[in-house]
Amino acid sequence: METRNAQTFEYKAEMKQLLQLIIHSLYTHPEVFLRELVSNASDAMNKLRYRQLTDDTILDRGKDLEIRIVVDQTEKTMSITDNGIGMTREDLTENIGTIARSGTLEFLKKMKEEKKDAGDLIGQFGVGFYSVFMVTDQVTIETRHADKDSRGYRWVSSGESNFTIEEITKEERGTKISFKFKENVQDFADEHKLRQIIKKYSNFADFPIFIGKDKVNAVEALWRKGEADVKDEERAEFYKFVTNDYEDPLSSLHVSVEGSGAEFKALLFIPRKASFDLMRTKQHKTVQLYTNKIMIMDDCKDLLPEYLQFIRGVVDTSDLPLNVSREVVQTSPAMTKIKAALTGKIIQWLQRMSNKETEKFLTFYKTFGPLFKTGLNSDFTNREKLIELLRFESSTQKAGDLTSFKDYAARMKSTQKDIYYLTGDSREQIEHNPNLEYFKKHDIEVLFLLEPVDVFIIPSIPEYDKKPVKAIDKGDIELDSAEAKDKKEDDDLSKSLVTLFKDTLKDQVEDVKISKRLVDSAVTLVTGNEGMDRQTERMMKMMGHEVPAGKRIMEVNIDHPVVKNLARRYLANASDDMLKKCIVQLYESAQLMDGELNSRADYVKRMMDIMAEATK
Ligand code: ADP
Repeated sequence: METRNAQTFEYKAEMKQLLQLIIHSLYTHPEVFLRELVSNASDAMNKLRYRQLTDDTILDRGKDLEIRIVVDQTEKTMSITDNGIGMTREDLTENIGTIARSGTLEFLKKMKEEKKDAGDLIGQFGVGFYSVFMVTDQVTIETRHADKDSRGYRWVSSGESNFTIEEITKEERGTKISFKFKENVQDFADEHKLRQIIKKYSNFADFPIFIGKDKVNAVEALWRKGEADVKDEERAEFYKFVTNDYEDPLSSLHVSVEGSGAEFKALLFIPRKASFDLMRTKQHKTVQLYTNKIMIMDDCKDLLPEYLQFIRGVVDTSDLPLNVSREVVQTSPAMTKIKAALTGKIIQWLQRMSNKETEKFLTFYKTFGPLFKTGLNSDFTNREKLIELLRFESSTQKAGDLTSFKDYAARMKSTQKDIYYLTGDSREQIEHNPNLEYFKKHDIEVLFLLEPVDVFIIPSIPEYDKKPVKAIDKGDIELDSAEAKDKKEDDDLSKSLVTLFKDTLKDQVEDVKISKRLVDSAVTLVTGNEGMDRQTERMMKMMGHEVPAGKRIMEVNIDHPVVKNLARRYLANASDDMLKKCIVQLYESAQLMDGELNSRADYVKRMMDIMAEATK
């Protein structure tokens, strides 16, 4: 073969490190190399098939699309050939020589440190091709792009520091990858073994895969079959094939919709774990879009509302024109209808799961809840249904257990009118919130909202089943039990003491009141009626806004020993120095509990003064 322009390229530093990781330490299953190569070949053929719909001039037009694997048991060599889209010179340098996604290297390093098996995940990072260096010391790619005036190229690399590219004569479009197996993995040079691996990982590839003369894969559009006609194992295998996940899916759903303006079939999955970049970037994959069995998009985010974009699988419709651009597909009215129908089906699926497979539903909720819940603020059509699917921890349930509004409402006492909640960062912290004392004592259930996203969604639910939903750290909450009324509000001494509190803290708080809600704590801070709602304040801070510290109302427990002592001291000497010191200290202690204390130094110094006095 005649060659021209042989050129050597150095890998970037980051790429070198990645290669080292892959070759020396990342994998425990070298067999995944085959899955990655087959998956790349399938992608290339999907691209070709799509392109062919609109381009008459394409090279080898009309040729059957297939993958061919050839092994030589004596030479210990293997090649895999596809007649897909092929690669240009730029493709070879850009796509093969670089890491596509930022953060990949860091992530893989961390996996290595934590001794996790990243080999199973490799395909999710866009560096799958390199897994071939686990089984060989040198790889050759020969490729020609499907453009009619393209040229052929040969890429060779030993996966260490550089690769070379030279021009070659290649008649047919597509890509051939060839290599010789390393000493310790030569058992791969065996048709029987390769066949088994293909069956395990690539049985559902869209195109026939031949090893020698035999076709080895199923090539089935599983999503076109009814649920009853597909075995669980087949579904799980299909899921793994589509997602590169190594675990079975948490749940799966066959969908078949006709009429109502949308016509499609789908096979959808909820993964067990969130993919590495689900919450962090928009790079995670969602569903593949097919029209009449031809894949037109490998990741069609427009088919799902954002809050459901953890769903994986395949959607196949006959409603979309095949031979138009992706942009047109994305904006077509058919898409809007499919999206609405799909959303409805997914919500029904979750509803069924929450009723019949509670454990599964909770696994889903703990994994994808933070994303899922944002649907409340964006999907107003399904809002009521989404509210039913919300789950929270609660003061009357075990830590880690979750409950719904519906179950909460069913447990409410006949005298209780409102649904109560409290937001916080952790169960530990929230359990110690003084505002909870009254509710604990009277056995009134309070929902614990522990996820940051909760503060974005709860303020938008003013009531559930006609019962007002209220934060228990608000000033105007009504506590009307006998006990609450019992407190000696009109006691003159208490009143004067409260006046002293007010005078002392007049610049810091909106008001001081005798508390009805405290049992064990001396004081607490609640949201003032004029000040910004505490949830909103947190929300603004989370969004990076400067929030002026809203003034709180301080509530004082006049039955508390410290407060009683203060009252006694006040009676003896109204201008006692200790009084003001203790009042400020009480105020700042409450701030400290809420994570809002400004000066720890002042706080500690004052505490020392008080201790000095007490130990005198
Ligand atoms: P990923 O497939 O996840 O993008 P890979 O490292 O496996 O990551 O492949 C990198 C890129 O190289 C692919 O995105 C594709 O552009 C190109 N490529 C790999 N194999 C082939 C092939 N057989 N035919 C055409 N292009 C290929």
